[in-house]
Amino acid sequence: DVARTYRLDWVEYDKVLEVGRQGDLGLMSGISQAISNNEFRLYLQPKIRMADGGMVSAEALIRWEHPTRGLIAPEHFIPFAEKTGCIRMITKWVLSEAMDIVALLRANGTPIQLGVNLSAFDLDDTALLKLLEQLLIEHRANPADIRFEITEHSAMNNPIAALEVMHGLCNLGFSISIDDFGTGYSSLAYLQKMPVSELKIDRSFVKKFSSEDTGFVLLKSIISLGHQLGLSIVAEGVENADEWDMLVDLDCDFVQGFYISEAMELDQFEAWWKNQSTSSHQSRNG
Ligand code: C2E
Ligand code: MG
Ligand code: MG
Ligand code: MG
Repeated sequence: DVARTYRLDWVEYDKVLEVGRQGDLGLMSGISQAISNNEFRLYLQPKIRMADGGMVSAEALIRWEHPTRGLIAPEHFIPFAEKTGCIRMITKWVLSEAMDIVALLRANGTPIQLGVNLSAFDLDDTALLKLLEQLLIEHRANPADIRFEITEHSAMNNPIAALEVMHGLCNLGFSISIDDFGTGYSSLAYLQKMPVSELKIDRSFVKKFSSEDTGFVLLKSIISLGHQLGLSIVAEGVENADEWDMLVDLDCDFVQGFYISEAMELDQFEAWWKNQSTSSHQSRNG
């Protein structure tokens, strides 16, 4: 496996690309070119604290602004990048960009914690930690401003290596959330071994249920068990006021979803934020 041969040095993953080019994997060279042409964007989706409507964090979601194909969603290139190993080039770009964003927002007097998604491939060895140490210095970023989102599935792919990387991330001062919780195979018992402080409940569990539904019982149990493990809980994909109200009743801590806002470009996000702090979310909690 070509990709694995180069696992020792993050930068050497570029060589995987050279090999790919000799084949017919056009998208692979496309990704490398997209990075040099600055075609990737990080869109930001607000994550709202339910207790007071506070806007204290957001999630960075990648988009590819393709010159001919338009805006491409991550589902159309991330799985491919993961398969070929060029996900590490993307991750490196995402990390640099995320650090620039948090440093900029902090300089503007509006600091937030930014959620950054990692792939299973990024957790395979400790090269990520070396890369991050270097990037923190280059970008003068504060690790407390970044929260890594790791799916249950990624954490379980190579659990021993992933656990080592997760501990390394914490030692560097980053926080970690488990993403898409409920869709993977990890148990709440295994969660206790991971240095995570937050659970993001997958949106498939966050529909407005009636109180007799199994879905409702599951959601209620996840929130309550998560709290008992000392984790804060985020509901993903909240789309309407009924879901918001149900989550208030269930004592959920944070929400993200189209009900609050879709992911936006940085300028739009900053404008939205200013507007929110004047109009406030208080009305949602009434
Ligand atoms: P995720 O990390 O679970 O991100 C949440 C996804 O749900 C985002 O899709 C977001 O736009 C979408 N979403 C948010 N609120 C709602 C809602 O109310 N309703 C519905 N139907 N959807 C909602 P997106 O941006 O297409 O990202 C999809 C996935 O791609 C992400 O899932 C994440 O796993 C991956 N991804 C995104 N950015 C990155 C990245 O920079 N690196 C890596 N490795 N993966 C990324
Ligand atoms: Mg995420
Ligand atoms: Mg998710
Ligand atoms: Mg997801």
